[in-house]
Amino acid sequence: MIRSFNPPVRTLMGPGPADVHPRVLAALARPTIGHLDPAFVTMMDELKDLLRLAFRTENALTMPVSAPGSAGMEICFVNLVEPGDEVVVCINGVFGARMKENIERTGGIPIVVQGQWGRAVDPNQVEETLKAHPNARLLAFVQAETSTGASSDAQTLAEIAHRHDCLTIVDAVTALGGSPLEVDAWGLDAVYSGSQKCLSCTPGLAPVTFGERALEKVRQRKTKVQSWFLDLNLVMGYWSGEQKRTYHHTAPVNALYALHESLVMLAEEGVEQAWERHAHHHRALRAGLEALGLELIVPVDERLPQLNSVAVPGGIDEALVRSRLLQHYNLELGAGLGDLAGKIWRIGLMGYSSRPTNILLCVGALANELS
Ligand code: PLP
Repeated sequence: MIRSFNPPVRTLMGPGPADVHPRVLAALARPTIGHLDPAFVTMMDELKDLLRLAFRTENALTMPVSAPGSAGMEICFVNLVEPGDEVVVCINGVFGARMKENIERTGGIPIVVQGQWGRAVDPNQVEETLKAHPNARLLAFVQAETSTGASSDAQTLAEIAHRHDCLTIVDAVTALGGSPLEVDAWGLDAVYSGSQKCLSCTPGLAPVTFGERALEKVRQRKTKVQSWFLDLNLVMGYWSGEQKRTYHHTAPVNALYALHESLVMLAEEGVEQAWERHAHHHRALRAGLEALGLELIVPVDERLPQLNSVAVPGGIDEALVRSRLLQHYNLELGAGLGDLAGKIWRIGLMGYSSRPTNILLCVGALANELS
């Protein structure tokens, strides 16, 4: 007979999901109510305010999509790209490549700025590409490339985009709550994230925010958005505060309690304090890794604090080390992807995982396994 599933208790220090805070897990277990219940609707309004705080924006259209980060990516592309549109997309890892795939599937024409894995997007390359393609009206890039640990300068890239009359689509799945992100001050137009990284929440929700310029572009569409579920015009009917909420889909009620709780915790800590905590713990982890003779592959000023890519020393079977860490310490580290498969470990310090005991466990366990 198949019995109830009781997962092992792990310490999650990979690329996400990160450790979920006990307060968030407790919120998930609260009684399910109807998704049009007045109490739930009040919670949704608070959730939108809390997301605005996290994204640092006043954007009215700020909400969680009821699906994982990839759906956050998709809602941006299916609404902002029409068949035949040229879109400049920066690829310096797995998720830039996924953006390109989205552009192709919406009938857009991707113009690729090919970057190096493990490096930030090069603003000069972006400027040259936008000059060479004056018809492009969108620039898409990943602020925090989880596949490599490289952080790109979203503010500078947005400035360049606007100089060339382009809007920006920004992947902030790993950035939100973990490193500086200023949607309004940097003029970012459409930004998406995920619940499972630096927000200490469970996977499965995609916070998004759209500025007025992006919404105007959606209103000006000549063609219908090909996805029913992700059509912003329809989703807004449910999430918008101005009009009476209409049924669109059954909201993942308990998952939204969890996101609400994680954002309440972020507000209690302070957004800037959360960025500083991630930076501080990154420095502590780095010191521990360097003491073991391990090296981070991303240049110092392009490193993400929340995702640390470590070069696997020669002669070490990286998969064996990870499986021993899981078996003996219940500790999960991430493997390299794509070009970096087999060459790096990815050590996440995201959200509730970004705390001193995790760093001690990780450095101690690696010291033991590598000695
Ligand atoms: N973008 C980035 C930078 C990510 O790290 C991830 C997930 O790891 C995604 C997009 C996709 O998010 P999800 O796996 O929740 O669909």
